[in-house]
Amino acid sequence: MSGPIGGGPRIYEKHITLAVARLLAQELRSAGVDVLMTRTTDTLIALSDRGRIANRNKGDLFVSVHVNATGGRGSAAARERGYETYFLAEAKTAEASRVERMENEAVKFETGANAPKGDPLSFIINDMAQNEHLRESNDLAETIQNGMRRFHPGKDRGVQQANFAVLRGSYMPAVLVEIGFGTNPAEAAYLSDSNNQREIAQSLARSVLEYLEHYDARIGPGTR
Ligand SMILES: [Zn+2]
Repeated sequence: MSGPIGGGPRIYEKHITLAVARLLAQELRSAGVDVLMTRTTDTLIALSDRGRIANRNKGDLFVSVHVNATGGRGSAAARERGYETYFLAEAKTAEASRVERMENEAVKFETGANAPKGDPLSFIINDMAQNEHLRESNDLAETIQNGMRRFHPGKDRGVQQANFAVLRGSYMPAVLVEIGFGTNPAEAAYLSDSNNQREIAQSLARSVLEYLEHYDARIGPGTR
């Protein structure tokens, strides 16, 4: 997405999410976590390939970082702001369905080498693969929301669920974080500030570490 509505410095989701993801990787690495990024530069990786990359490398956790956009136009829509974290399941609300459609639309940029090689059946199998991780994914989503609540100026839009293509193919707990609305002028400015990007990344890192500790404690260290 790009924004904001009503003018002001133009921001692009792909630049902000890459900056935050790089900072997040830094934070996690310095805490001793192995991090694999699906992209480290301004390039496009097919939605379905991102999960595959995580599976191939036997990830314990999959985190997808995004900037949100309102569904409407005009000044009322431009006021919409805040952060929310999704896990993969059937969308429960109209708003979750809208965000699902919007994020899944990125498929339209996938051509040639980027096009997914999957068959229709693999979607069903992948959905089933995610089912057993629902509880963990929900836990991680809650932890992320709790962390952001401490500093984020936008409103807490809570933990949501939707059927995201980017999460479908991963055989591990997986979440999608919408760190704010790029369509809202104040939030677009907030998200483009590198200090704020760092604060968001640090918070995401703390949540991931908190989650991993909890997860380790439950299944016992050394079994992952
Ligand atoms: Zn997105």
